[in-house]
Amino acid sequence: MFTEPLPSTLDVRKAAARGVTVTGAIKPCDLHRFRELLVSDKGGIVADLLLSKDEENRCLVQIKVEADIEVCCQRCLSPMPVHLSTDNTLAVVWTDEQASHLPRHLDALLAEDEACNLWELVEDELILDLPPYSYHDTDACKKILEAFSPQPAVEVAEEEKPNPFNVLEQLKPGKKH
Ligand SMILES: [Zn+2]
Repeated sequence: MFTEPLPSTLDVRKAAARGVTVTGAIKPCDLHRFRELLVSDKGGIVADLLLSKDEENRCLVQIKVEADIEVCCQRCLSPMPVHLSTDNTLAVVWTDEQASHLPRHLDALLAEDEACNLWELVEDELILDLPPYSYHDTDACKKILEAFSPQPAVEVAEEEKPNPFNVLEQLKPGKKH
């Protein structure tokens, strides 16, 4: 496992001119918006960013993220591990006007100044890639649900039957109604 932390910011213009690759790890608890979608701090995230310039002199960032995280199963509400794997190429722009002139196949990465926040970039990629609802395999889920309710539906059905002792009670001599 790669353990060196991903730098939080990078001068993308310089890095793209040099064709730099930046790789590093982030913890789920470091990404607050993303962490809110998870059930625990377990797991890890590794990001790989390749910076380059295209023929139009645009700064490109190819970003790949691999994440092992834990979310809530929407069927049994227990934690379940999820692996995310993203691969996307963004063009760095500094104004909305630059963004509007990008070709359709390039998504804009709006940089506020020279230093681009890499953690936010990774966080956005992860939030986009995270499925809105996650479920265990049906069998795994059933086992968890059974563990939570050891006496399933059968007992409920029995309670609905008339209790034979109530009838005996009514037949007892001396009992008036
Ligand atoms: Zn489940």
